[in-house]
Amino acid sequence: MNIYIDFDDCLCETARHFSGFVKDLYGIDVPYEDIKYFNLQKSFSLTDEQYDEMMIKAHEPEVLLSYEETPGAAAVVNEWIDKGNDVSIITGRPFSAYEPSREWLDRHGLERVRMYCLDKYGRDTFIKNSRFSLELADYYRMHFDIAIEDSPSAFRFFEHLPALQVMVYDRPWNRGCEFPGDNYHRCTDWNTIRRLYETFARE
Ligand SMILES: [Mg+2]
Repeated sequence: MNIYIDFDDCLCETARHFSGFVKDLYGIDVPYEDIKYFNLQKSFSLTDEQYDEMMIKAHEPEVLLSYEETPGAAAVVNEWIDKGNDVSIITGRPFSAYEPSREWLDRHGLERVRMYCLDKYGRDTFIKNSRFSLELADYYRMHFDIAIEDSPSAFRFFEHLPALQVMVYDRPWNRGCEFPGDNYHRCTDWNTIRRLYETFARE
């Protein structure tokens, strides 16, 4: 099977990190559980300047490398690769973040996954002239059977694949979201994702 996995808040705990980061930078205290919007500027009530500054700092290599792994992520992904699945990390991070992101994967035992930077969110304002490694036209030529994603803003990238099984990593900002179809499944952790994968693999 071909498997799509998002990076932030699927493989690693990006928003938990941001919660502490925004408190340190601006004294704004929004605990992880209160991050209600995928739009972090809105969730943290930041000005445009604060948001830009935060996003630039958040993409510095030492910050990207410091994100905690989501428990169990690497073990499950490696199991899937051992079983002959093809795993692609499709991230909305800009290509300027490629190297530290690649290094994070390697440090967490994920040397065998491929990683692509796709402009999912049109975030080209915080790092000027961001480049992405995967063009939309090329993305749409790829085929996936399973996707792991946390962001409702990314669901539009699945519309062309009606048979795709989408596992939505349960996060505070996607709890109020209505899923586009019954091929979407809320998963609270990587154990749940692993179990669901087993049912799809048997079909
Ligand atoms: Mg994400």
